[in-house]
Amino acid sequence: MFQTLLVTKDDDGQHVAFAQLDESDLPDGNVTIDVEYSSLNYKDGLALTGGPVLRKFPIVPGIDLSGVVTDSSDRRWEVGDRVVLNGWSTGEQYWGGYTQRSRVNGDWLTRLPDSIDTRRAMAIGTAGYTAMLSVLALEEHGVAPETGPVVVTGAAGGVGSVAVAVLSKLGFEVVASTGRPAEAGYLKTLGASDVIDRAELSGDVSPLGRARWAGAIDTVGSNTLANVLSSTRDNGCVAACGLAGGADLPASVLPFILRGITLAGINSVTQPSHRRDQAWARLATDLDMDLLDSMTTVEPFGRLPELAREILAGNIRGRVVVDVNSGDPAKG
Ligand code: NDP
Repeated sequence: MFQTLLVTKDDDGQHVAFAQLDESDLPDGNVTIDVEYSSLNYKDGLALTGGPVLRKFPIVPGIDLSGVVTDSSDRRWEVGDRVVLNGWSTGEQYWGGYTQRSRVNGDWLTRLPDSIDTRRAMAIGTAGYTAMLSVLALEEHGVAPETGPVVVTGAAGGVGSVAVAVLSKLGFEVVASTGRPAEAGYLKTLGASDVIDRAELSGDVSPLGRARWAGAIDTVGSNTLANVLSSTRDNGCVAACGLAGGADLPASVLPFILRGITLAGINSVTQPSHRRDQAWARLATDLDMDLLDSMTTVEPFGRLPELAREILAGNIRGRVVVDVNSGDPAKG
């Protein structure tokens, strides 16, 4: 028997409850995994509170997992392999990571670099891996430490915190935008050179503002993304990965046609395996693991429903690892 968090749906809406399942309940797949850790992402918050994320019921939510292979009929994976799974619609359409055991498609797995254990893999999680995909996009569009500062919006959140830490280790001047001034010290510890109030970027959109940064990683969307675009320097690049402030984009074409900037969309869910391997290899070398630990809280399985509400309220700092084997979920 093993514990899962299960979401069911009926005429009254979605219901979230812990359940004890056994091997016969596992979904189809060719690799079985003892899950050691999962994590909490903004999308998980939406999924657990009835947001438009889950596409099949009943379902085990959780878009991340890390653990050890216990059985495999896929020749690429052997018993004892340490793996991570992000995206591929797990925790949305297929069984996700809020479980002590899972069975998945071997195509979806990524081998963990030797220097990243399963707990730190979930401290990184989809948020950190998305931050690295965003950094890769900036680099591929010519943004480098010598081209100028990079702004990170939603900086005290999960994607933002990892982005600040990685960019700073790579030698960038990082400007962190946050709505929580009390987190300025935290953001400077991660490596931000400057911390600005999110209100500077969330107001009325100027079609073409003062050129301030060579690049940006935006987790907020809406007016914030539009203002970031209009304040990006000639030939700069903005990696857009989030919508914590809204899914709209009230922007003008002027930054594109007068400054030649690039808007790079980031989708972590559908990246091919080689891109995932590249991102995880870069996380192993370009993310300071002590800083990662300092931005991470490890929480017991049973607190997930409460934590889901907290992340949507913008109250979570950095990353939350979920220890699916800790405590009795029924007791919270
Ligand atoms: P978090 O909740 O950890 O971080 C989001 C941050 O955004 C908050 O900490 C806060 O930062 C800021 N924020 C929250 N609400 C608002 C608001 N109303 N207006 C402006 N800023 C706000 O979430 P994650 O880091 O896990 O995810 C961030 C975003 O990235 C989400 O929208 C998520 O869906 C998206 N995402 C996309 C992925 C992809 O593949 N494209 C993958 C992973 C995440 P602060 O307090 O510093 O202002």
